[in-house]
Amino acid sequence: MALAIVRDICTACGDCESICPTESIIPFKGVYKIVADTCTECEGKFDTAQCLDVCMEDDCIVPA
Ligand code: SF4
Ligand code: SF4
Repeated sequence: MALAIVRDICTACGDCESICPTESIIPFKGVYKIVADTCTECEGKFDTAQCLDVCMEDDCIVPA
């Protein structure tokens, strides 16, 4: 259970990086990626996926 960042849509703004409670969002090849092994979809910490809430780009963060 994890989310993923669509590389072609991510603008590398970095807004999602610091709000991830599991530190699963890392710089990768000029944009960002979500480490699927540690992404919990924020379950147990927040009611909604924090990266999805903060990202301004449509369809940038999707189910992995
Ligand atoms: S869904 Fe939550 S845990 Fe997963 S990458 Fe986004 S902010 Fe981090
Ligand atoms: S908030 Fe969205 S556009 Fe910005 S770095 Fe994260 S995934 Fe990319």
